[in-house]
Amino acid sequence: MPQDVYTFQDLQRWEDVTKECEPPLRLAVFGDPVAHSASPPMHNAALEKSGIAARYTRLLITPEELVEALRLLPQKGFLGANLTIPHKAAALGCMDRVDEHARRIGAVNTVLVEGSELVGFNTDGPGLVRAVRSEFGVDLRNLRVLVLGAGGGAGRAVAMQCAIEQCERLVLVNRTAEKGVALANELRPLFTGPHVSGPLARVKAIGWEEAELKQQMEQTDLVVNCSSVGMKRSDPSPLPPAALQPHLLVFDTIYTAARTKLMQAADEAGARSANGFSMLLHQGALSFEIWFNREAPVEAMRKALVQFAAARNGS
Ligand code: NAP
Repeated sequence: MPQDVYTFQDLQRWEDVTKECEPPLRLAVFGDPVAHSASPPMHNAALEKSGIAARYTRLLITPEELVEALRLLPQKGFLGANLTIPHKAAALGCMDRVDEHARRIGAVNTVLVEGSELVGFNTDGPGLVRAVRSEFGVDLRNLRVLVLGAGGGAGRAVAMQCAIEQCERLVLVNRTAEKGVALANELRPLFTGPHVSGPLARVKAIGWEEAELKQQMEQTDLVVNCSSVGMKRSDPSPLPPAALQPHLLVFDTIYTAARTKLMQAADEAGARSANGFSMLLHQGALSFEIWFNREAPVEAMRKALVQFAAARNGS
């Protein structure tokens, strides 16, 4: 039976440690911590459904171990890997080649092993595009988007995706205001396509203050929460209901609860909302497509994620 989590020391002796595992473990998510990751059940369902003789596991890798652990992947027969907290930015410098999209984002969440080389991709932003379409039936490119927590890794990926999509308008909000300002300055030159929002600034960074947020919401269609506020059960909603309005679509990238605190605030304000479950699903489906060059069995992956979440929540 495969273990739930393996370590760097296990990876160094992979042939011995996993010799009983059938099908062989040839994909993994690297993280620290990683025990909570929902990626193994999701990807194992996809592998099984597709008749691929390989399985996916968790590797607890510290930042100090990351470079060596990535270099071991080709030697140990891995097809690829995913990266989660805190490795996405650091992994960029460990790749032999990096896809243009991941380079722009400055982070890698998917590694493809090609011979002895590592190729880096980022599927978080494209995963959000698919998730917004499936949850709300709209395309990111047509929306005025406000990103809350724009200074973090997920916030940067989402904001960059908005620029790539040439969305109608982008407002960046971050607790540490300078990070939002720096990102707005970086993204502004990328917005070159036509837009219809008149004289309003197309890209803008604002502070995390309720009065200014309320004002910006008038000119916003989609709010994406990329801050980690709401991850812990004891956290408040990152925005109070009074800062939201009924016309808004509210996407919370957090997926640890079925109805996050922000979604509850959206309910109170009469706005539609979704949690980050579908983003997790679609970024995973896109990783699968990179590894196997074939369409991912999304429904099998969704079902496995639902079962995993239900078991985790004890329901
Ligand atoms: P990160 O790089 O550590 O960024 C954390 C962000 O949250 C920063 O913008 C930070 O602001 C902000 N923040 C933290 N505590 C705050 C507080 N008390 N008040 C206001 N802002 C606060 O983390 P990350 O990797 O981007 O992940 C962020 C969230 O995205 C997590 O909840 C994660 O679950 C979610 N996510 C979901 C998916 C998915 O597939 N659904 C994928 C990736 C990430 P400062 O810059 O001021 O520190």
